[in-house]
Amino acid sequence: MIEPDQLRANYESVRERIWSAAARSGRAPDSVTLVAVTKTWPAELVVMAYEAGMRHFGENRPEELAAKRPVVETMLGQDAGIHWHLIGTLQSRKTRLAADYADRFHALDRDKIVRRLSADLVENGRRLVTFLEVNISGESTKAGFDCREWEANATEREALRTMFVSAAEMPGLDMAGLMTMAPWDIAPDIIRSVFRRSRLLNDWLQSQLPAGPPLQLSMGMTDDFEIAIEEGATHIRVGRALFGERGG
Ligand SMILES: *Cc1c(COP(=O)(O)O)cnc(C)c1O
Repeated sequence: MIEPDQLRANYESVRERIWSAAARSGRAPDSVTLVAVTKTWPAELVVMAYEAGMRHFGENRPEELAAKRPVVETMLGQDAGIHWHLIGTLQSRKTRLAADYADRFHALDRDKIVRRLSADLVENGRRLVTFLEVNISGESTKAGFDCREWEANATEREALRTMFVSAAEMPGLDMAGLMTMAPWDIAPDIIRSVFRRSRLLNDWLQSQLPAGPPLQLSMGMTDDFEIAIEEGATHIRVGRALFGERGG
């Protein structure tokens, strides 16, 4: 596990990169939320990151979130001001863990999950800020609601709008916006176009909704978060740039 000094230096460097990318695109740096991805790392690392100033943490597996959050809360208390983000795809039999332990969920991708999650949230009386994951690129990932041809295909756009609006009407779910993953190992200009198309889709979706708060947009990881910020990300999900290689 990383040393506290190194972690503070990494955090500082990630923050500087966020500031520069925001400045380049004329955005306020505080319009970008850094979600520190702690998957595979122990609760002690979350505490170390908390002490360095981080407040948003991301886990991709609900079991791991359900195990880690209570341990962190025993160490820091329940009112430490931490926001827990579940960032990975959810299987329908795991919705209860998400409903019980996540504050935000970035990877909603189908109706079955909407129904189960909402039922679980009604039961436990919690609310979940939720992003709908869209598949823009079609490359290397099957995750996400299919929007690969959304500009040309009105049926695809309508399906997305219907899915988003019906999820927003379900009790317990606060629909925040869209999330996307860039394809792996692909040229920066293609990554940029995936992010740009996600941003334009988010804008289109906004135009279809009744007046309300601006939709948020979760995109960008260690290798591409600066491009994501330049293209309009409001949430970036960063692990390795903060904590080093997992399992390393
Ligand atoms: C692991 C993960 C990240 C962070 O990846 P890094 O390359 O470590 O920054 C972001 N989003 C999701 C959905 C992940 O599973």
